[in-house]
Amino acid sequence: MVFNRPYRASREQDNLVAVLDSGHIQGDGRFTDSASAKLKAISGAPYVLLTTSCTSALEMAALLLELSPDDEVIVPSFGFPAVATSMALRGATCVFADIDSDTGNLDPHSVAAALTERTKAVVVIHYGGVAADMEGLLALGDAHGIAIVEDNAHGLGGTWRGHGLGTIGKMGTLSFHDTKNVQCGEGGALLLSDEVLMERAGIIRDKGTDRAQFLRGGIDKYSWQDIGSSYSPSELNAAMLDAQLDEFASIQAARLRVWEMYAAALPDWAQRNDIRLMTAPADCQHTAHLYYVRTPTERHRDSLIDHLAVRGIPASFHYVPLDSSPGGLKLGRTPVPCVRTAEFAATVVRLPIWPGLSDAQVTKVVEAVTSFAV
Ligand SMILES: *Cc1c(COP(=O)(O)O)cnc(C)c1O
Repeated sequence: MVFNRPYRASREQDNLVAVLDSGHIQGDGRFTDSASAKLKAISGAPYVLLTTSCTSALEMAALLLELSPDDEVIVPSFGFPAVATSMALRGATCVFADIDSDTGNLDPHSVAAALTERTKAVVVIHYGGVAADMEGLLALGDAHGIAIVEDNAHGLGGTWRGHGLGTIGKMGTLSFHDTKNVQCGEGGALLLSDEVLMERAGIIRDKGTDRAQFLRGGIDKYSWQDIGSSYSPSELNAAMLDAQLDEFASIQAARLRVWEMYAAALPDWAQRNDIRLMTAPADCQHTAHLYYVRTPTERHRDSLIDHLAVRGIPASFHYVPLDSSPGGLKLGRTPVPCVRTAEFAATVVRLPIWPGLSDAQVTKVVEAVTSFAV
């Protein structure tokens, strides 16, 4: 059994051959258009730009925020390094805030305690595709004039109070890395709702030029306009992504099925052993990107992972806290110790979850997990 198997969609190969035969291999061809339209429909975002990764979408967000070395950006300490490094790349200081122990998501109270006059933005991750407390974060953003950026690498298709994750803040990002629900090897997207921001984003994505407008026929030549970089994926990536998005509903349903099987099978064992199971608040639809359990202590986490490994089940811990990592110490600061992050990171164990996991395999995981006693 593997921990994750990147999904393969049935039309992938045909799409890839079609790109090769078409001679249009560079970005912004018909598969980029098609995949972008599908992402708009799934997320509800008015504007979608495909990028080479979620990290590059976060870099674009940092450029659109016009971050400078005078600015601070609050990010969760329990998070993937890209949330921090994309902001640090603009010279901004990363300020680490703590999480809510129930969800692993950024805690608005911790964000409030980390605010200063220099705070320009907050980057939030919807961990596992479970919505963060957006009410609390939006209230802080409105009260202090701070942009909320959603790193929605886990949560395409998820919702918070009916709103698509990634469309609630000022900007949202997606990842199509091969560890994500929908994948094209390496890829991402930037979700926007503001037309002016979208115009600027198109320039930033295209080497600082207005080439996109030129290709649409709006102008008769293109030129250098602004700072930018090269963030468009090739049509090969877009073609693979487009094939995956055709099967989005069945990918999500298959993952949710595995998630629900774990959620139904583990509560008695969890209660007996002081284990906490992954949960999602009632006002959000999660995406079954992860299924995790939390052990009472770090020692129990290590012994559960070993116990599963011996039985042929790959299981894994997750993020190393950013605030105490070498990059965090060098490029950020931590006004209030992130104790819940440290505790969450030390006790989380992720179980295998991917669409092709058979009932027999899920049963095997459940048997191995429930034969572990704290
Ligand atoms: C995977 C991931 C990223 C990075 O995605 P890439 O597409 O590999 O750049 C960023 N944030 C989170 C939360 C992720 O899980």
